[in-house]
Amino acid sequence: MIVGIDLGTTNSLVAVWKDGGPRLVPNALGSFLTPSCVGVDDDGQILIGEAARERLQTHPQRTASLFKRHMGSMRTSRLADRDYRPEELSALVLRSLKADAEAFLGEAVTEAVITVPAYFSDAQRKATRVAGELAGLKVERLLNEPTAAALAYGLHDGGTETQFLVFDLGGGTFDVSILEMFDGVMEVRASACDNMLGGEDFANLLVEQAFANGIPDKARNDAVFMQRLVARAESAKRDIGANGSASFDVRWENSEANVALDAEAFEKLSQPLMDRLWRPIERALRDARIRAADLNNVVLAGGATRMPMIRALATRMFGRFPVIGLNPDEVVALGAAVQAGLKMKDKALEETVMTDVCPYTLGTGVIKRLDNGSHAEGFYAPIIQRNTVVPVSRVQRFFPVSAEQKAIRIDVYQGESRLVRDNIKLGELDVQVQPGPGHADGVDVRFTYDVNGLLEVEVMVVATGIVQRLVIESGETHMSPEEIAKRLATLSALKIHPRDTLENRALLARAERLYEQLLGDMREHVGQMILHFEQTLTTQDTQRIARDAEAFRKALASIETDGYFAPDPGA
Ligand code: AMP
Repeated sequence: MIVGIDLGTTNSLVAVWKDGGPRLVPNALGSFLTPSCVGVDDDGQILIGEAARERLQTHPQRTASLFKRHMGSMRTSRLADRDYRPEELSALVLRSLKADAEAFLGEAVTEAVITVPAYFSDAQRKATRVAGELAGLKVERLLNEPTAAALAYGLHDGGTETQFLVFDLGGGTFDVSILEMFDGVMEVRASACDNMLGGEDFANLLVEQAFANGIPDKARNDAVFMQRLVARAESAKRDIGANGSASFDVRWENSEANVALDAEAFEKLSQPLMDRLWRPIERALRDARIRAADLNNVVLAGGATRMPMIRALATRMFGRFPVIGLNPDEVVALGAAVQAGLKMKDKALEETVMTDVCPYTLGTGVIKRLDNGSHAEGFYAPIIQRNTVVPVSRVQRFFPVSAEQKAIRIDVYQGESRLVRDNIKLGELDVQVQPGPGHADGVDVRFTYDVNGLLEVEVMVVATGIVQRLVIESGETHMSPEEIAKRLATLSALKIHPRDTLENRALLARAERLYEQLLGDMREHVGQMILHFEQTLTTQDTQRIARDAEAFRKALASIETDGYFAPDPGA
C-alpha cells in the first residue's frame, strides 16, 4: 500500500487511496492534522505532533517546529542534548504518520508519495527523500504541492473538459498553477510561485503594529515574548476574518501596546501584500498562454485563502467566485493519495493521466565576449526553460573561451535572473578539455529533469566523447548512504511516546501551557488538575483514565473559552 503524505511546514497529513477514492487518515488524537512539531519530553522520550506543539511555548529548548524551511540546508535544531538535522525531524513526523496509516489500514506501510513545494530545489527534494528513507518509507514519488491540489480538485470535479487555476496561499508561500483537463488527462500547463509570500506575512503585519504602538524594538530578541506575540497576532488575524475586527493588548517589561483593527483597516494595511499576488498569476497565465477570461474555474487552496479579503480579491481578479469545494488544509494530502492510487494502478483511475512541469528554469553560468573584445563572466544560459513538461532532457553546446583553456567549469543554477549571482546555485563540475585539435569543439551539457523534480547533469567532451556526470548531491548538505544508515540507527534507538498515550501527553502539555499563561487562583487550579491527572495516569486503569481525561479536557476548554488569561503575553 502506498500512502500520500502532505509534509507541511506547520501541519502534516496522510491520506490513502481506498474504495475508489482518497481518504484522510486520523492520527491518534482523532485529527487529520498532525502539527509538524517534534519535542523531547523531560524523561527523554520523543513527542510528535500536538503534544510537541503545545510545548513550543513552555519548552522552547526541547521543541522544534518549522524545520521544513531548513530542508536541504545544514541548519540543525538542538533538542535537549542533541542536534537534529531537518531530515531527521521530518522523518520523525513521517514515522508518526506512517504509524497512523498502519493503525488505520491494519497493514504495514512502506511506500509513500510525499508532496513538496513546487519551488523546492534539488537539495530540498533530496532531503525530503532522505527523510522518507529515515522513516522507513520508500518515496515512490515527490509530487509538487499545487499539482497535488489540482489532482484532488480535478478528480473531485468529475473530469469534464476544463482549464482551471489553482490559487494556493499557504503559510509561507503563494503558488499558482494552471491546469488543463480533457478525457481524463490532467496537464499542468504552468506553475509560478512567490516563496516569500504567505499567511504568516499577514499575521506579521499585526506583530509590527505592536511595535509601532509602543513595544520597543529590543523586545524582538525575547524569544518567549515573540512566540506569544506571534500567536496573538495569528489569532487576531483569524478573528478579523471571522468577526470583522480584533483587538489585543501586549506588555513587555514596562511597555504596553494595544493592537485594534477592523477588516477595512487590515485590508488597507495588507494592500502591499495583496498587490504581490498578481505577479505569479500573470506569469503563470503568460507561460500557459491562457487568458484569464478563458479559465473555466479558479480553485482555492492553502489555509490563508480562508481570509475573506483574499477570497474577495480572487473574485475580483477573475470576475467569478472561486471554487472552495474541498477543505484547503486537506486538498494537498488528498491529491497525494490520488497520485498513490495512480501508482498502484487502481481501476477507478485507469483513464487518468497526469503530467507536470518543471516550475523553474535550470541552466549554467557562461562567460560573454564584450564589444571591446574583453570577457565578462556570471551570465546565465538557460538549458531547461521553466514550465517545460517533465520528464525532460535538453542538451546545449558550450565552447572554451581561449585556445589554451584546460578545463571548462559547468556551474548549475536554478532561477530566472539574467545574472547567475541572482539565481540559486545547485552544483558545479570541472571538465578537462585538452588544448589541441578538437579543443574548439567544446562540450555538450545535458540536463535531465525527472518527474520527481530531480536533476541529472551530464557533460560530454565533443572531441573525445568522454562523458562526466555531475552528482549534484556532492554539495555539503548531502548525506552519504553510510551517514543515512548511521542516522537511521540512532533514530531507531530513540524512545518515542507510544501512540496510545499521545492523547494524554497532549492534554498535559496543553494544561502546562495554560498554567504558564494564567495567574493567581486559576493558575493554582490548573496546577491541581495537572497533578490529579498525573496521578490518575499512574493507576493504569484505562476506564478511569479515559473518564478523567474527558473531564480534564472539558475543564481546560472552558478555561480557554472563558478567556481567563493574563491580559498580556509578556506577563
Ligand atoms: P497551510 O500552509 O495551507 O496550512 O496554510 C497555513 C496558513 O493559513 C497560515 O498562515 C494560517 O495563518 C492560515 N490560516 C489558516 N486558517 C486561517 C483562517 N481561518 N483565517 C486566516 N488565515 C488562516
